[in-house]
Formats: sequence, C-alpha cells, structure tokens
Amino acid sequence: MSQSASSEKTTLIIGGGLAGLSCAFELAEQGKSVIVLEAAPYVGGRTANWNERGMEVESGFHKFIGYYTLLPELLERAGIDLDEMLFWETSMEARHPEAEDSGEFGLDVIRAPLKTLLGALGNNSYLTPADKASLIPFFTAGFKDYLANPEKLDEIPLQQYAEDHHVTPQALERILEPLSSGIFFLPPDQYSSYAFFGLFAPGIPRLHKMRIGAFSGGMTDVMCQPLADRIEQLGGKVRTSTPVRHLIVEHNRISGVELENGERLLAENVVVATNIRRAQKLLTEHFSEVSWFKPFFELESMPHVTAQFQLPEPLLPQDRTTFGPGTQLGSFGEQSRTTFRDHAGRTSIILVDPDKLVDLPDEQVWKRTVDSLHDIGLDGVDQATDYRIIRGDENFYRLSPGNEKKRPKQVTPIPGLFLAGDYTKQPFLATMEGAVISGQRAARGILNG
Ligand SMILES: Cc1cc2nc3c(=O)[nH]c(=O)nc-3n(C[C@H](O)[C@H](O)[C@H](O)COP(=O)(O)OP(=O)(O)OC[C@H]3O[C@@H](n4cnc5c(N)ncnc54)[C@H](O)[C@@H]3O)c2cc1C
Repeated sequence: MSQSASSEKTTLIIGGGLAGLSCAFELAEQGKSVIVLEAAPYVGGRTANWNERGMEVESGFHKFIGYYTLLPELLERAGIDLDEMLFWETSMEARHPEAEDSGEFGLDVIRAPLKTLLGALGNNSYLTPADKASLIPFFTAGFKDYLANPEKLDEIPLQQYAEDHHVTPQALERILEPLSSGIFFLPPDQYSSYAFFGLFAPGIPRLHKMRIGAFSGGMTDVMCQPLADRIEQLGGKVRTSTPVRHLIVEHNRISGVELENGERLLAENVVVATNIRRAQKLLTEHFSEVSWFKPFFELESMPHVTAQFQLPEPLLPQDRTTFGPGTQLGSFGEQSRTTFRDHAGRTSIILVDPDKLVDLPDEQVWKRTVDSLHDIGLDGVDQATDYRIIRGDENFYRLSPGNEKKRPKQVTPIPGLFLAGDYTKQPFLATMEGAVISGQRAARGILNG
C-alpha cells in the first residue's frame, strides 16, 4: 500500500460534480492547495456528457434557470462565457394525451412579454379559466406557508396540499404534475409541498430573470471541463478515474483518504462531495454513532431514469422544454439545434416515477417511452435509429415529505471534514445552483477554519 503525503495543508475533494468543482475553484482562487478526486473518467457527475457504447449522451435533460445567481457568477469568474454556453428559451410547452391542444407558456417577462402574458391568460383549451382560477389561492397560500411554516409544509404531500386548497383535478394533472414530476420525477402524491414551492420561491423577487437556458453542448464539454481547467490553471489538481474507497480517520480527526487502488493520500481537510448514497457509505464506516450524522443517515435517496435517442430528423419543431403530464414523460426536448448539433434529430427525456423503472431492462423502459410519445402525438419516434436509457439509482435525496430536516450542513463537527453536494442544506433543492452553494459553503468553512 503506497502512501503519498500530498501535503498536510492540502484539501482533498471527493467528487468532481458541480459541488466539488465549485468548492475546489473557490479554494484554488484563494491560493489554497486542492486536489479533486473523481471516480468517473470525466468530470461533471450529474452535469456530464460522455460516450455510452457509441452514442453521445448526457446525464439527463438539464435547464439553467435564469434566476440562478451563484452558479452564473462562479462560471463568469472562471472565464466561462454564459452567452456561449447557453441558448435562452422564451417559451415552453405541455402536451397532455386528452387535451385538445398543447399548452404554450411564455417564460420571459422582459424579452417576450406578450407571449408570457398570453400564456398565463390564454391556453383555454388546455386549461379552463376555472382551472386557472383554482390555482391562485393555492399558490398564494403556498408561498406564504413556505416563508412562515416551512417545516409544516414539508410534511404535506403536494397532492394533499392542492386538494386542501381546492385545486381542480385538471389543474392538478396538467399544471402541478408537470411542475413536480416533470422536474424532480416524483408524482404529486409523493412530492413535498415545501420542495414544490421552494423551487419557485427564489424566482419571485427575480421574475424578470425567469427564463430558462439550454446548454449549447454537452455539460462536461461546455461547463465542467472548462471549470476543471481553470482550477488547474490556478494551481489545483483534478484527477479523474480516481475512486475513493475509504476516509482515513485518526483520533477522531480526518487525515486523508484511501483510493480504490490502495493508495493513501494525506490532507488537512477532506470534502466529501459525492452523491448522497456514496457519502452515506463513506461516512457510516466511521461516524455511525455520532448523533450529528444520524438524521443524514436516514435521509432517503431516489433514482432517476432518462431516455435519449437519435432520429433522421427532429422530433419537435423547436428545441424547447416540453412536459408530458398524464404520461411516462416528465420533461423533454429536442436538442438537435442546441445541445447535440451533430445530429439531424436528437431528443432527451426525463422519465416519471423512476422507482418503478430503475430495475426494468432497457427494452421495457424504451417501450414505455415510445408508447407515451405516441399518446401525445409524437409518432416520429418510430424513426428512432438508436437510443440509450441512462439511469442512476442513488444520486438524489428524495424530495418527499419529511426529508428536508434531515439534510446535513456543510461544516461537520469532525475536525477537517466537510460535506458538499446538492443534498446538503441549502435553499435551492437538488439543482445546479444548490450544488454550487453547497460547494461554496464548504470552501468558506475551510477558509474560515
Ligand atoms: C436527469 C437530471 C436532470 C436534472 N435537471 C436539472 C435541471 O434542469 N436544472 C438544475 O439546476 N439541476 C438539474 N439536475 C440536478 C443537478 O444535476 C444536480 O443537482 C447537480 O449536478 C448535483 O451536483 P453534485 O456535485 O452535488 O453531485 P454529482 O453531480 O452527483 O457529483 C458527485 C460526483 O461524485 C463522484 N463520486 C461518487 N463516489 C465517488 C468516490 N467514491 N470517489 C470519487 N468520486 C466519487 C461521482 O462520480 C460524481 O461525479 C438534474 C439532474 C439529473 C440527473
């Protein structure tokens, strides 16, 4: 077993997703010695792209929300030009199998005000005026409870909260379902009301920023690798294909890590910036009896499943976010004009209710995907030339009732040990912005230490 004394002043960061990279960037920018250890052959984690058995894929359909602040600010500091990295969308669509027409909703109050207003007021064949009216008291009460009673709100499933506030069944299915399962996969009866309102609440004071961006290339290529390159320019190191097996803890203080290949690296600080289940496994080995960690060890995780495919022509007339309430399709989009421009047709879909899909063979998941696309009139899928089912079974904390209070803070009571990752406590749930906030908080803990 080899032992590398990296340096007693070094910080090791386990995980090269956005949380780990943002932590590393902040430390490297302050002149600190930092090494990122990433298990995969590429950086990015859940914001990555790679080649999967001959087909270029991404970790999943992602949107950059215009009201994010710390993520864009960090990327700009790292020299990444947001206008090159993103295509801004000005509208989104919802297709329901039983709706006469699809609903089209404007997103950009500043740049497309008319479309935005007409989207909210129009779309009467998708949602009746009575359905729309039923949402007003629901949203008003929800945002109030989000501020006044967050713990209580987190105990209530979204479906129950909607029923308690007399949301019509059609508004529940056609608006609230896409905004829960379309974004975080879970159907409204399993989804925390706190998570639901928490995703939109930060946008209210920044309504003028309420637009969404599609990536102009794979997320490793246009965001995470340039960020890793910048960390290295600042003197940090980013090692891919370097899985960590254990933490090394001596006298109740963290002193380094042991890699899968047996190599031991020593450090002053270790930031565990892996996905939730891997973090729980690394930490329970040493801290199962430490009360601070107990709620975190009970925090549940959830899987995600996505379908991605290529066609000889675009499936959809525009590259924009589309929701498929009433089907297996959460949110999806054509990407041949934005993220994957080498292909004539290319679609990426987040599938709903992943607990039921994650263990099914690819062929069965694909069949359900195709059936759902037929249900909403997208028969072009029959021309698909190749597809991949991309899944992860332990990456997300479960956004279901009762879990919010179990999320751990980034600074732990163990000297030298910090946590980063979207599951750690921060207001932006399981998002890219949340991951960056968590990484920055861990970095601040180290710098203040
Ligand atoms: C399908 C899908 C759609 C999404 N859509 C959006 C969206 O539209 N907008 C949005 O803001 N967010 C979205 N997200 C969420 C966003 O991607 C995550 O919140 C964010 O990327 C989490 O970053 P992280 O660094 O916390 O975790 P991760 O990205 O999971 O990074 C953890 C890293 O740790 C590494 N690792 C694990 N174990 C080890 C080990 N033992 N040794 C070394 N390394 C290890 C992993 O390989 C991984 O790279 C989506 C995610 C998915 C999967």
